[in-house]
Amino acid sequence: MKKIAVYPGSFDPITNGHVDIIKRGLRMFDELIILIAYNPNKKTLFSVNERLAMIREVIKDCNNVRVDSFDGLLVDFVKGAGANVILRGLRALSDFEYEFQLALINRRLNREIETVFLMTGYKWFYTSSTIINEAASLGGSVKGLVPDIVNQKLLEKYACK
Ligand code: ADP
Repeated sequence: MKKIAVYPGSFDPITNGHVDIIKRGLRMFDELIILIAYNPNKKTLFSVNERLAMIREVIKDCNNVRVDSFDGLLVDFVKGAGANVILRGLRALSDFEYEFQLALINRRLNREIETVFLMTGYKWFYTSSTIINEAASLGGSVKGLVPDIVNQKLLEKYACK
């Protein structure tokens, strides 16, 4: 049976920390689906379509990975995609409690689905979309922390503001 995992998140925007998890996840699973899990009422820097386009560009040379978006219950998407693993990345201790809660509620909602965690690469320990957005909004360079396409889009976004 094919091992398919779903890697959900906001990816607002995708960072090199996310890319690290994607590349390592691809070594563990036959197929990986990056899922932009969004709430239509929540304000984000990039629209879902902008985020989809950036991620598509980032993964264009990788096999067995695709990107999708969904605003419903995560376990429903996972089941519908024929997957049974949710992939998540762990950074600092501060991620732990939230990830623990998320994993437990998802397991309660569907016992067939397991959450698998990968520890962040040490280079990306402090990299989060929020910090990247904040630095970029104040004119700081985030080159090297995000894929080139994201750096370019951040520069464009904040040049217009
Ligand atoms: P959310 O929107 O759920 O807060 P994100 O979209 O930022 O999360 O990230 C999705 C997943 O990727 C989460 O499991 C998060 O912990 C993980 N992640 C985010 N940044 C990094 C990083 N620098 N290294 C490893 N994992 C990360």
